Amino acid sequence: MGLVVQKYGGSSVADAEGIKRVAKRIVEAKKNGNDVVVVVSAMGDTTDELIDLAEQVSPMPAGRELDMLLTAGERISMALLAMAIKNLGHKAQSFTGSQAGVITDSVHNKARIIDVTPGRIRTALDEGNIAIVAGFQGVSQDKKDITTLGRGGSDTTAVALAAALDAEVCEIYTDVDGVFTADPRVVKKARKIDWISFEDMLELASSGSKVLLHRCVEYARRYNIPIHVRSSFSGLQGTWVSSEPIEQGDKQVEQAIISGVAHDTSEAKITVVGVPDKPGEAASIFRTIADAEINIDMVVQNVSAASTGLTDISFTLPKSEGRKAIDALEKNRAGIGFDSLRYDDQIGKISLVGAGMKTNPGVTADFFTALSDAGVNIELISTSEIRISVVTRKDDVAEAVRAVHTAFGLDSDSDEAVVYGGTGR
Ligand code: ASP
Ligand code: MG
Repeated sequence: MGLVVQKYGGSSVADAEGIKRVAKRIVEAKKNGNDVVVVVSAMGDTTDELIDLAEQVSPMPAGRELDMLLTAGERISMALLAMAIKNLGHKAQSFTGSQAGVITDSVHNKARIIDVTPGRIRTALDEGNIAIVAGFQGVSQDKKDITTLGRGGSDTTAVALAAALDAEVCEIYTDVDGVFTADPRVVKKARKIDWISFEDMLELASSGSKVLLHRCVEYARRYNIPIHVRSSFSGLQGTWVSSEPIEQGDKQVEQAIISGVAHDTSEAKITVVGVPDKPGEAASIFRTIADAEINIDMVVQNVSAASTGLTDISFTLPKSEGRKAIDALEKNRAGIGFDSLRYDDQIGKISLVGAGMKTNPGVTADFFTALSDAGVNIELISTSEIRISVVTRKDDVAEAVRAVHTAFGLDSDSDEAVVYGGTGR
């Protein structure tokens, strides 16, 4: 008998019908002879609605109280799910993150899991229960305050529990049939990937693919927990994410040259104009940004004009951090020494990901050709061993993604990319 961890996202448990449907699916897994631990997200758009509500009573809600509020969303779904399972004649018990032993640091709204001590979950399983755990939450080690793991954090809860309980697999149930070669909401001909390595999945996640969060994949890789991403709305096999290909019947599964095309419109670009071209300048700009605890993505320094000895440095960062970054740079303007700042939030990023890039020299050229054929202008470029990314105008992103997807032969013959639910909020 194996142990499986299943995670159901908000769109899978959006209403009472959804909860009952998911309960049946969970009971099936139990009947197949498994110990089953279920991690559940808040129903539908509950988390967004709670955030809206908080902002109505306070423009900047305190982190501790916001966490207290948001964790209520997962409590609702976990209790309802346990009730629905019991109604089907099976034993189930629900647990908050804290009760399940999810111990975090004390950074409210984006805490990191530092330990998992699932003693109560083990006991519940040993007593024949299906254990339902509220995702996205934990308790801080030092202050014993309730914390949340950042938006979409239930996936991380699931993988962390799978690791702590030595599960065979962590199944992530969502509103699409798996990981696709591009966002099915943008590319109708996106193809479902049967297997993808942790490395390629990490690159896709950090390039804007939303199906799995970077943190969750990182955790799974560290503990070598295979993830099976699949839909709770269909019975289809989904996408396996693991270190080695997983055999799927007689289907040959192998490493693709290109895994997929990701896009991201959540970033903005800041250009620091008129920076003296001398050692230490970039260091002081990025020290200022780092001290404000802002993560940046791409960086480009322009060639300086010989006559002025001044240069421009551009970088991208999450839009949500834009204000903070501008304020921090302005405050240090004298120390750093620059003329002005330009802020541009009408950008988008397109990334091509695949381990095969390392050994296929034509990939970069084909990528740029596809973009130029589509009439897309490139503003910034960055590469890793297995990824090429460009920044373009935001309005060009969808067209660019489709063009690149077609150029690399990723289009499927059928329209297999179905989006079953969710508001995409
Ligand atoms: N309910 C939380 C959110 O919407 C966590 C999750 O869904 O994973 O971000
Ligand atoms: Mg959610």
